[in-house]
Amino acid sequence: MKTIVVGSGAGGATVARELQSRGFDVLILEAGPPFKPFTRHISWAEPLRRFGLLGGEGTFKHFFPSMDIQRSSRELILVRGLTTGGSTVLSCGNLVRADQGLEEIGLDLTPEYDELEGELNPTIIPPGTWRPVTQDMFQSAENLGLNPKPTPKVVNKDKCNYCGLCELGCSRGARWDSRKFLNEAVRNGAILKSRSPVEKVIIEKGRVTGVVTRDSKQYHADVVVLSAGGIGTAQILKNSGLKAEDHLWVDIVLTLGGVLPGARQLEEPPMAWYTQQEDYILSPYPDILSHYFHKPWRKVPIQDRVGLMVKLADVEEGAVYEDGRVDKSLTDHDQQRLDRAISQAQEVMEGAGISGPFVRGVPNGGHLGGTVPLKKEDVPDMKPSWLPDGLWVADLSLAPHSQGLPTILLTAALALRVARNIHRNFDDRI
Ligand SMILES: Cc1cc2nc3c(=O)[nH]c(=O)nc-3n(C[C@H](O)[C@H](O)[C@H](O)COP(=O)(O)OP(=O)(O)OC[C@H]3O[C@@H](n4cnc5c(N)ncnc54)[C@H](O)[C@@H]3O)c2cc1C
Repeated sequence: MKTIVVGSGAGGATVARELQSRGFDVLILEAGPPFKPFTRHISWAEPLRRFGLLGGEGTFKHFFPSMDIQRSSRELILVRGLTTGGSTVLSCGNLVRADQGLEEIGLDLTPEYDELEGELNPTIIPPGTWRPVTQDMFQSAENLGLNPKPTPKVVNKDKCNYCGLCELGCSRGARWDSRKFLNEAVRNGAILKSRSPVEKVIIEKGRVTGVVTRDSKQYHADVVVLSAGGIGTAQILKNSGLKAEDHLWVDIVLTLGGVLPGARQLEEPPMAWYTQQEDYILSPYPDILSHYFHKPWRKVPIQDRVGLMVKLADVEEGAVYEDGRVDKSLTDHDQQRLDRAISQAQEVMEGAGISGPFVRGVPNGGHLGGTVPLKKEDVPDMKPSWLPDGLWVADLSLAPHSQGLPTILLTAALALRVARNIHRNFDDRI
């Protein structure tokens, strides 16, 4: 059974590995090049940063092209990985279950969560190895009754050198990313073509029979799976004359920066602990995007800067256009909840002896979902009923609601369930 999987991130790599292992002939078309972590020292940028000579966040792309950054409104930046491994190669390695909005549609991913956690075996960064400031913030959050917990991570503590720069790619291979699944799929016979951005799907007599890449090459298959992420999948659908819903959510991140001389927060894996509130988490985070590119953060050197992140489940109303541009801003509801969460973050920081001036970072979002949301009636087939025959979606686009939590495990669990449904559909033809 010839199968094309578009994208190689959390969803694409999971679906490709599963289908290849079940006897499908999988071709993976990945828009980006093979991933290379950022290996240069960043200390050279410090003096330029202080004088504002680094430019805006767009500069980042020149040094580290795998990280795609776009402004979706005046105040909000979106981040994703455009490379093999997708956004997982930029992740902090947090691996937690997220299931906002799944019960309402009758989707229970417990079996997939159990299976993936059993395989990936997330563990915590031992609290005794956290920076003192991280330990003190944990204690302060506990004193405030916020019930903080060490974050389960897929980070090999023996290989990790505590450089704190997980989002720039892990050059030591200490942090899991979806290239592990991708490599297994390839070892099993799948073919991976990088630098192959898909433009649209081919529809013949109401059935999807292949895809066209941006350089006009055609690839034909019995099954096409879109796993290009919340933006990429929506873009391909719209370019194919199909719909995608204007319900993009991104889990808005806003970091509060404070000052503690000699804190050296960057010298540990980010997000060592988190506290989960109704629709957001707080987690220690030395926000490098804000440190290097956000004017209000300029005065404080990296060794004295301390950050506490708010990650908020946002209102799902972003729109993706055919050219990949996104229109998404902070709603009043997002803003009010962010304000409340930021006040709480400040309380935690002050309780840990961190002082001001407290400054907010750049609001940004990197959990891109909700553009092909599953509805209750779609769950038995794991496929929105309006998708033509032969076409499936297996990425975070399927998740109807923002999570305010890490989303790799959710994406992989969704993709695993989709892959097994595809297999069930074609079982007799393999
Ligand atoms: C900086 C950052 C840190 C994060 N940290 C964590 C974390 O610690 N823990 C966690 O759980 N989550 C984290 N996330 C979120 C998580 O990585 C994503 O939610 C998850 O990877 C989504 O999976 P996906 O398959 O939907 O998309 P992606 O993983 O982004 O994969 C999409 C793939 O499709 C490719 N693609 C796009 N368009 C096309 C096209 N037209 N043709 C072909 N290929 C295309 C992309 O190059 C990419 O490989 C982080 C995200 C970011 C940005």
